[in-house]
Amino acid sequence: MVSVKVGINGYGTIGKRVADAIDAQDDMEVVGVTKTGPSFGCEMAVRKGFDLYCTSDDPLMVSSFAESRFECKGGLKDLLSISDVVIDCSPGKMGADNLEKYVKAGVKSIFQGGEKHSLTGLSYTSCANHSENYGAQSTRVVSCNTTGLSRTLVPLYDHCGELKVECTMIRRAADPGDSKKGPINAIKPVLKVPSHHGPDVMTVKPEIEINSLAVAVPTTIMHVHAIIADLPEGHGLSTESIISLWRDAPRVIVMSGEENKITTTAEVMEMARDIGRKWGDLHEIFVWEDAVRLIENRLYYFQAIHQESDVIPENVDCVRALMKMEKNWALSVAKTDEAISKYYNI
Ligand code: NAD
Repeated sequence: MVSVKVGINGYGTIGKRVADAIDAQDDMEVVGVTKTGPSFGCEMAVRKGFDLYCTSDDPLMVSSFAESRFECKGGLKDLLSISDVVIDCSPGKMGADNLEKYVKAGVKSIFQGGEKHSLTGLSYTSCANHSENYGAQSTRVVSCNTTGLSRTLVPLYDHCGELKVECTMIRRAADPGDSKKGPINAIKPVLKVPSHHGPDVMTVKPEIEINSLAVAVPTTIMHVHAIIADLPEGHGLSTESIISLWRDAPRVIVMSGEENKITTTAEVMEMARDIGRKWGDLHEIFVWEDAVRLIENRLYYFQAIHQESDVIPENVDCVRALMKMEKNWALSVAKTDEAISKYYNI
């Protein structure tokens, strides 16, 4: 089987997870990952057997590795020269500079949700617009929140053909490993109304009318979305059939909070650790079955998003779209998820 060569630029929270997910697949391989300089992240890459490159081509930065125990194979240019596609996992807002380098090197590129849609003019979620991204040169895997909204709203839209949504994003203040951000004792509303999160869904599914409000709360483990969706007349759905629709949708878990004693995000994360997910990740969106309620045409539900991990398998599918490896999104999703399960033996 031809193996597509994937470079990962930025080996942080998202980059290290994406690298493992790519490594798990039999139709693509990680040809190298970048770090700004020697750090524990380099140790992780070396243990995994990934070649290390520097995020920069500046000889001073490249040579900073020489004083450490880590062998650096070169700068970003060197990594790009052996890559078919690069997954940019650099901190948000570095996209414009990096895109220029990828274009110059003639390498396809995938950005993350910290970049704006306008950077590439194209965005991606597996269930919403895989085929629009087929063969594209450059795209952006949308943020964890937008990915989470797409997972439950796109199947609903596909059934109903029309959907109006209002949602409130109750956002974690920071990633667990992040010591710089807050709030630690406050609830912080996003004063730009509507917030960008809901409307970002329209970059992958413009047919869904959606707005959102957002607040940041002092927790680090998950986001929660409180969603109200108006379905069109004649939708033919019930609370039970919506639950079945989501049970059949990939990367969505629907569970009763009361029966399973999983009524908070802390318990959802404990479940992810109990079932052996690496880093305690949960690639799936968690919907509390008890709180799904359709009243006439109005649907109410809550879902929880593991911010560091729901976008990880999407990056793998996105490689398959850009590199024209699989046109059918559902087949790509099944292949990705099976390979990840085998890789981690879960
Ligand atoms: P991070 O800070 O954890 O990791 C970024 C990595 O990039 C670090 O290893 C850093 O050293 C490296 N880096 C620094 N400068 C660089 C450069 N010029 N070029 C390449 N790499 C460079 O950040 P993250 O949380 O992994 O976020 C990466 C992207 O993913 C952002 O766009 C972010 O918005 C998005 N995202 C993050 C999350 C999350 O929960 N952390 C979820 C979804 C999407």
